[in-house]
Amino acid sequence: MKIDESIVQGAKSLLAEAQNIVITNHVGPDGDAMGSALGFKEILRQQGKSVTVIVPNIYPKFLKWMKGDDEVIIFEDARAHASDSIKTTDLIIHLDYNSLARSGEMQGILSSATAKRLVVDHHQQPDDFADVLYSDTSMSSTCEMVFHLAQALGWDDYINKEAADCLYTGMMTDTGNFRFSSTTPTTHRAVARLLEKGVLPQEIASAVYDTNSRNRLKLLSRCLERMEVFPQYQSAIMSLSAADLDEFDYQKGDTEGFVNYGLSMEGTIMSAFLAEKDNRIKMSFRSKGDFNVNQLARDHFNGGGHINAAGGISEESMEKTIEKLKALLPQYEELAKK
Ligand code: 5GP
Ligand code: MN
Repeated sequence: MKIDESIVQGAKSLLAEAQNIVITNHVGPDGDAMGSALGFKEILRQQGKSVTVIVPNIYPKFLKWMKGDDEVIIFEDARAHASDSIKTTDLIIHLDYNSLARSGEMQGILSSATAKRLVVDHHQQPDDFADVLYSDTSMSSTCEMVFHLAQALGWDDYINKEAADCLYTGMMTDTGNFRFSSTTPTTHRAVARLLEKGVLPQEIASAVYDTNSRNRLKLLSRCLERMEVFPQYQSAIMSLSAADLDEFDYQKGDTEGFVNYGLSMEGTIMSAFLAEKDNRIKMSFRSKGDFNVNQLARDHFNGGGHINAAGGISEESMEKTIEKLKALLPQYEELAKK
């Protein structure tokens, strides 16, 4: 994997000059966001750097086994402490997001920070806020990019088993278990190296996927019951109301991956999952082929992401949001027929 030499040299000098480093990721941290943050931290920790991982808000329990998890600062729960660290740090590493707006309530403090910025990210259309930007939308995951950057910097020795476990996790989750089209020979070569470092795929898969609560499975059942299918648009829409989430004692992470069930149905190339959380509708989109859900989310639901995986927000009611989405489907019919 060849990374542009100016990026490697830029990252090298930013990292060499910094002693105190803050690593951040996006709101609603997922496997890739947490894996890249804690994997990068472990790589830098072994080089004597002082690294603090600060994330905007809480993340699912199934990610809480990685090395360094106990030291992660949740911005929403510790604003003053987190803000102090951000204000006084030498370098901020922004992982797995392309716009400061994706850092939620950390946005203000991050925008006014005077530290240098290194951004490593694989989302489309990154904003211009980095001193050094390593952006590659062809990459499976930010974890894969952290792996390649570490290799380019000659840091293979610092990818120990703990760091490898973290990086493998994000590569696994962001590729839907190495199924999405973003999975390349390069991805698998990186995975091969991580396995050589001691990663046990069965152990990680089990830690991430075999920890369902009974309530989560019941919530999934409700979600599938609610699925509406639009064969003419090869699309499916699923939704859960706040009442549904309450009924099954929703915990952070419980609806992770539900959107993929719509796409698993034969003939479906676009799946949307809507959940009423914090008085807003959080929307997740997944698609296959040319159906561009990044554009759909950007144009209509104040969101974005990747061509085949995106998210957005609606401030309208669930009913109105579903109506709006249904009304948009015919526009995408041509795309869906490709
Ligand atoms: P998910 O459906 O798993 O929440 O998100 C899928 C993809 O879309 C992720 O790559 C995520 O970064 C992006 N995404 C999710 N929600 C939003 C959002 O509200 N705004 C933007 N710009 N991207 C989002
Ligand atoms: Mn990612």
